[in-house]
Amino acid sequence: MTRELTCIVCPMGCGLKVELDNDKIVSVSGNTCPRGKQYAINECTDPQRTVTTTMRCDGGVVSVKTDHTISKDKIFECMTIINSYFAPLPIHIGDVIIKDIFGANIVATQNKEAAWTIN
Ligand code: SF4
Repeated sequence: MTRELTCIVCPMGCGLKVELDNDKIVSVSGNTCPRGKQYAINECTDPQRTVTTTMRCDGGVVSVKTDHTISKDKIFECMTIINSYFAPLPIHIGDVIIKDIFGANIVATQNKEAAWTIN
C-alpha cells in the first residue's frame, strides 16, 4: 500500500510517498531533507499535533495551545481537560495554565488582564 502525504514541517510542502507493508514502513520518497522522512514515519506510526484552542477565564475566554505536540489520538481527551478548567486572571502570553497533559503544558497565547472596578 502507498500512502501519500504532504510534509508540513516547512513551507516547501514536499509531496511524500510512504510504501507500507502491513503497517510496516518499507520506504519513504519525495522528501528533500531528513526532517521530511521523519515526519512521514511519525505520521504513519504515531501522528502528533499541536492543539490550539480557547479556555474559559474571567470575563470570557483566552487563547491557549500545547507547548509540544501530543499524539493525535489524545486530542479529544486533551480538549475535555482544557474545557473543564477555568483560568484565573491575569494571564500573560507563555504562562503555563495546565501542566503536563500527555507530556505537554497548556500555555497562554494571549494576554488577559484582570478587570478592576473602583466604587
Ligand atoms: S521534506 Fe524537508 S524541505 Fe520538504 S517540506 Fe519537509 S521539511 Fe521541508
